Amino acid sequence: MGVLSETTKPQKNPPPRILLMEDEINVSKGMQLVLGEAGYEVDWAETGRYALELVRRNPYDLILADLCLPDLDGLQIIKEAKQQWPQTRVIVITGYSTVASAIDAFKLGTSDYLEKPFTENELIKAIAEVLFTGPADVSPAKI
Ligand code: CA
Repeated sequence: MGVLSETTKPQKNPPPRILLMEDEINVSKGMQLVLGEAGYEVDWAETGRYALELVRRNPYDLILADLCLPDLDGLQIIKEAKQQWPQTRVIVITGYSTVASAIDAFKLGTSDYLEKPFTENELIKAIAEVLFTGPADVSPAKI
């Protein structure tokens, strides 16, 4: 039985689901490629309204959130997501890193912050740290 269940189950767990909330199409496409290759399942929202719609329906493992969207404030979406799904982790990505918005994002439960431009490795590393270590686990031993 052990052998059978091992050979018939290619994956022990479903891949973590990520919502990519980013209006820059080129950045989004690159990130979707990298995340897909890393084994994540990615939904992409180009607008805040679509992100909000997806967030209300889906308990994502992680939201990669650009704060500067054309229609809505990214913080508003993070707030709603965390209210509805407290376990959803958030990493803020933005090219306009203002101190105020970063602080607000962390107050809402954001776990990490990526400033554009970032490398593929920085992205994958940040996601792995946020998804596979608890928010309170900030032990510097690993760094
Ligand atoms: Ca943007």
